[in-house]
Amino acid sequence: MAALHEPLFRGHEWEYVKECIDTGWVSTAGKFVDRFETMLVDYTGISHASAVVNGTAALHVCLMLAGIRQNDEVICQPLTFAATCAAIAYCGGLPHFVDVSPTTLGLCPDALETRLNETAEIVDGVCQNRLTRRRIGAVVCMHTYGHAVELDRLAALCARWHLPLIEDAAESLGSFYQGRHTGHWGVLSAVSFNGNKIVTTGGGGAVLTNDPYLARQAKHLTTTAKLPHRWEFEHDRVGYNYRLPNLNAALGCAQLEQLPNYVAAKRTLAQRYAEAFRDVANVSFFTEPSGCCSNYWLNVILLDHPDRSARDAILTATNDAGLMTRPAWQLMHRLAPYALAPHGDLKVAESLYDRLINIPSSVTLGESHG
Ligand SMILES: *Cc1c(COP(=O)(O)O)cnc(C)c1O
Repeated sequence: MAALHEPLFRGHEWEYVKECIDTGWVSTAGKFVDRFETMLVDYTGISHASAVVNGTAALHVCLMLAGIRQNDEVICQPLTFAATCAAIAYCGGLPHFVDVSPTTLGLCPDALETRLNETAEIVDGVCQNRLTRRRIGAVVCMHTYGHAVELDRLAALCARWHLPLIEDAAESLGSFYQGRHTGHWGVLSAVSFNGNKIVTTGGGGAVLTNDPYLARQAKHLTTTAKLPHRWEFEHDRVGYNYRLPNLNAALGCAQLEQLPNYVAAKRTLAQRYAEAFRDVANVSFFTEPSGCCSNYWLNVILLDHPDRSARDAILTATNDAGLMTRPAWQLMHRLAPYALAPHGDLKVAESLYDRLINIPSSVTLGESHG
């Protein structure tokens, strides 16, 4: 069976994990957490990283620190994994869906601008939905399957509308936009190290930010909000135990050492796919948008025309043949918990849902020859 995305352990993983067990430092303290965070900062060029238990928790923290509270709307794309919207709901917020771009598969700046002009106004410096009277608290964009959205345009729009931009970069570790790592444009960004991502800690995530104040808050909030003291247990707010255990960070350090090689192998695989699909009728291989150097986390083919039965026939035939393929996630505005969420015209996302198929994308496929 060719899986969609298999983890690959062949560096120092065993050595580092064994060191945790041998020394007893397996849990919420230990040197690998700090080392992992430093490695993330070095690789992404984003100045602060706080390691947490998973990517969903990282998103939750980003939204809390962006000030999302009960009854806020948060603009996001309908084509994403459910965690993006779950994190909004954890804060008491409601997603407000805006369409994706056919060239990036992520939040579309043109659609965002149109939607804001149609529905939003600034009242006393606060962005508000004119129709629902709710505050619009933030914009979350997601780099779908590793392909960066147009971050410069989105960041400029968000600034004009007094909206903090948050990047759900769970899928885009190793993806760059205009030469800088994804996660740079957001006030806060979330990454994931789940088992199916480009590198894994078993389960894990991180909050990235260039803002030293937000970085301190992220660390404090995710480590139970305990005030430092030799023996007293004082907590100055409701904290979260979102710490990444040292054991997982050890795995992560070994994985990050190999990330550049993984990205290179995945880009090679994408090139081969592009060639293989060049002359295939009625489907095209999705390639990185301009300005983006993508990690090609999950490769994508698109049917030229929306046709769910053709899509399902391909899904059946490939899975029967031992090649794992998958459709896009069900669009968020069609899920029961978000049935009442406001949204603009979502025709691009709805068309993509009927046309999109993920194909096997493991690192080793890009390394094999022949
Ligand atoms: C994987 C993923 C997450 C959540 O990460 P977990 O570590 O699984 O909690 C969030 N958003 C997107 C878009 C993802 O793909």
